Amino acid sequence: MPVPPALTSKQRADALVKAAHSRRARADIKAKVKTGVLGISDVLILAKSEPAIAKMRVSELLEALPGVGKIRAAAIMERLAISTPRRIQGLGIHQRAELISEFKPVGHRGRLLVLSGPGGVGKSTVASRIREARDNFWVSISATTRSPRHNEKDGVDYFFLSEEEFDRRIAMDDFLEWAQFAGARYGTPRAGVEKALSQGKNVLLEIEIEGARQVRTHSKEAILVFLEPPSWEDLVSRLKARGSDTPERRSHRLELATSELAAAKEFDVVIVNDHVEKVVDALVALAS
Ligand code: 5GP
Repeated sequence: MPVPPALTSKQRADALVKAAHSRRARADIKAKVKTGVLGISDVLILAKSEPAIAKMRVSELLEALPGVGKIRAAAIMERLAISTPRRIQGLGIHQRAELISEFKPVGHRGRLLVLSGPGGVGKSTVASRIREARDNFWVSISATTRSPRHNEKDGVDYFFLSEEEFDRRIAMDDFLEWAQFAGARYGTPRAGVEKALSQGKNVLLEIEIEGARQVRTHSKEAILVFLEPPSWEDLVSRLKARGSDTPERRSHRLELATSELAAAKEFDVVIVNDHVEKVVDALVALAS
């Protein structure tokens, strides 16, 4: 049998401190789960940044949930093909989704609406109106690698990320969808969307067309809405009015818009953006 390497007394002391920290972190999380302060999706998210939680056994987490004892936890794990010693960090993406859906309140899931269309058509104005005026909607904040415009704030308009951070998020499977658009990358953080839906909120994603196609592939529940300009001339003048784009970026966007407009037929619903309030009302009606 291999003999474990002997530890110095300093290494042994460090290991003991680390183990005590991990035990405390796990006990704290379990207490919060027991009292309903944290739900299963919260813990799965926390596990991404906290190694002590990532190493917690799935069985421990399930048994801490209100109303779930050892027997029910074992039955759920068997049904979802999660082996008994599996730790949170070892869960696959489907197992995570199945666990979240297992404990969501029945009949309270919100609707997922995807608002797409050519760049410059006015999607973000519609999304802002919904964010301001509709309590039962949650509008996702995207991540992007492009630089903030002068009036944009990090965490409000976008999460502005470096290329490296965006790569890291992709590797962590943190995005529901992501796409390249006009020289930058844009992505929808998955966790917020799932949390809002499971809390019964309707979720609005305001994204470009390639991202909408990805959502269609992964989510059967999504309703895809295409926002169309009243005319081509209208779209051109909207893009010209946007002083923040460089001339190169603007001409690239116009070129792109031609192919984007052809994608309307892939969507569930097409709405012409002649009045913002009309579009808002149509989206609210689709979610009800
Ligand atoms: P802008 O740079 O003008 O804010 O956005 C450029 C384009 O990216 C717009 O068409 C906008 O809808 C889209 N977009 C914003 N966030 C996301 C996202 O999370 N995913 C995808 N696929 N597109 C996004």
